[in-house]
Amino acid sequence: MSMQITHLGSGSRGNATLIRTDETTALIDCGFSARQIEKRLSMVGVAASDLDAIAITHHHSDHGKGAARARLLWGCEVHANLVTATKLLLEPVNECRTFTSLERVELGPDLSVLPIPVPHDGAENVGFILSNGDGMRAGMVTDLGDSTDELIRHLNGCSHISIESNYDYSRLMNGPYPDNLKRRITGRGGHLSNEQTATILEQVSSPELRSIVLCHLSEKNNAPHLAESETLMRIEGKFDGDLRISRQQGPEFSHWIGDGVSDKIALTI
Ligand SMILES: [Zn+2]
Ligand SMILES: [Zn+2]
Repeated sequence: MSMQITHLGSGSRGNATLIRTDETTALIDCGFSARQIEKRLSMVGVAASDLDAIAITHHHSDHGKGAARARLLWGCEVHANLVTATKLLLEPVNECRTFTSLERVELGPDLSVLPIPVPHDGAENVGFILSNGDGMRAGMVTDLGDSTDELIRHLNGCSHISIESNYDYSRLMNGPYPDNLKRRITGRGGHLSNEQTATILEQVSSPELRSIVLCHLSEKNNAPHLAESETLMRIEGKFDGDLRISRQQGPEFSHWIGDGVSDKIALTI
C-alpha cells in the first residue's frame, strides 16, 4: 500500500494537491479553475473523471474556488466543514459532505484524512493528516498564522509533511505592503514565516520523516532559496530525506510514502 503526493501548484493564486492510493484518487483543495485542474492532472497522467473526492481546507478562493464545478463536472464528492461549505455556497449533505475537526473522514476505501483546526483570520481552516490505513501518515497544512500544540502532536511521526513557508520576515517588513496588511500577515490569523515553519519542522523532524514540501510561498515577500535555507539550517542533523518547494506553475515532482517506496521521488518535468 502506498500513497503518492503531487502538488499541482501552490501559492496565493491557487492550490491543489493530488493524492493517489491503490484504490483512491483525491485532491486536497481545489483552488484552480476546472480547466486548470484538468490540464495539471493530465500532466501526471490522471483524468479528472478519475477523482473520487476533494477535501477542502477552507473557503478562500485559492483553495476552494473550483470545488463546486468539479463536483458537477466530474461527480466527485466534496468534503469540507460546515463553515467552509456554507461560504462556498455548497449545500450540506446534497452538495458537500461536512466534517467535524478531529474526526476521521474517509475519502475512499484506503484513504482518510483527519482535520486539525488551525488559526486563519475569517476562515475555519484545517490542516489534514492523511492516512492510507497501513500506519503511514502525511501532513498537509497551509494558511495559518501560528502553530498549535495539537498540530505539532499530529505532525509528529508523519512520513511526509507539506507545509506553507509563506514569507521572509525582513522582506515583508521592508516591502511595499501597507502596515495593516503586514500586521495581518504576521498575526496569529495570518501566514507562517520561513522562521515559524522551520521551527515547526525542527519540532517534528524524526527518522520517520522522509520528505518535506515547502509550499504557498509568497511571490512578493519570499524566495525559494530563503525558505529552503531557513528550514535546512534548523533541521540539519535531524532530517536526511528529500526537501522540495512547490511553486505556483504546475506539478514538478511526486513523493511516495508506504512500504518499500519511502525514498521514491519522481520528477514530472
Ligand atoms: Zn491560501
Ligand atoms: Zn487562506
